[in-house]
Amino acid sequence: MYLFKQKDTLDRHLSTARNNDKRIGFVPTMGALHHGHLSLIAKAKETCDLVVCSIFVNPTQFNDPSDFEKYPVTIDNDILQLTDAGTDVLFLPSVQEMYPEGLDVKTHYDFGSLETILEGAHRPGHFQGVGQVVHKLLNLVKPDQLFMGQKDFQQCLIVNRLLKLIDSKAQLVVCPTLREPDGLAMSSRNMRLNATERQNALHIYKALIYVKGNIHKASFSEILNNASNQLKMNGFDVDYIELVSMEEDGSVTFPKATGNRPVYAVIAAREISSDVRLIDNMLM
Ligand code: AMP
Repeated sequence: MYLFKQKDTLDRHLSTARNNDKRIGFVPTMGALHHGHLSLIAKAKETCDLVVCSIFVNPTQFNDPSDFEKYPVTIDNDILQLTDAGTDVLFLPSVQEMYPEGLDVKTHYDFGSLETILEGAHRPGHFQGVGQVVHKLLNLVKPDQLFMGQKDFQQCLIVNRLLKLIDSKAQLVVCPTLREPDGLAMSSRNMRLNATERQNALHIYKALIYVKGNIHKASFSEILNNASNQLKMNGFDVDYIELVSMEEDGSVTFPKATGNRPVYAVIAAREISSDVRLIDNMLM
C-alpha cells in the first residue's frame, strides 16, 4: 500500500493511474477503522482497479470541540488493517495540508431542508463541514466511485446532493451497515465505551427492532414514543427517533403511515454514563 501525506504526491500517483485507464474507488474515513470500514474497501475492490482510502478527522464537521478532541486515533492499527484488506493507496493528510487557507474560509453548499432536520438540527454546521471536506477530497482523488455506509444515512443523502451541486462524475455506492454479532452497529465511537456501556449501547439496536416489529400495531407517534421512553429508562438522552421516507428527489419526509416509499427508522442518542453519542437506522 502506498501512503501519501501530501496532495501533490497523491495527485501525481493517481494521474498516472488515470492515464492508464484505472478505475478509481474512494473510501473516505476518519480512521479508528473497524470491519464496517473494511467492508467498504472490499466493495470498492469488487468494481475498481485502484482503491484509495483517506483517513482525516475533519475539524470543520465537529460542532462539539470535545467530541473532536476525544475522537479515537489508532493510526498504526488502521494501516495494518488497510494493508491486509488490499487497499492500494492511503491518503493521510494533516489539517494544514487540507486547509492551507485556514479553517474559517468556507464555501456554502445549498443542501436545502436536508441540512436542518435530524442530525442537522442537533449538529449545526456539521453537514457544511462534511460538504467542505468531501468536496476537497473529491477534487483531489477524482474517483469513479465513492463508497459510503448506510449507517450515516443522512450523510449519504447530503453527499448525493453534493455530487449534483459540484457536477461530479463520481457514482455514490451506499453500502449496508455492518453490525456486531449482537446487533450493535459498528462505529469508531464504540471504542470509547467500557464493557457496561457497550452492553447498554445495544438498546439503540433494540429500539430499532422494536419499531420494526410494531410499526403496524399502533400509530407511528405511539411506537416512537414507546421506543424513546425505553431508551430514556436505560440511560440515554434521545436527540431524535423518527420514521422517515426517502423521496425520489433525494429529500426526506416524515410520513404518518407507510406508503409506497421505503420507510427508515433513524435514531441518535447519547449514552449518558459514557457521554458517547451514537446513531443508527434501519429499513422498516
Ligand atoms: P467514519 O470513519 O465514521 O467517518 O466512516 C467512514 C465511512 O464508513 C462512512 O461512509 C460511514 O458511513 C462508513 N461506516 C461507518 N460505520 C459503518 C458500519 N458499521 N458499516 C458500514 N459502513 C460504516
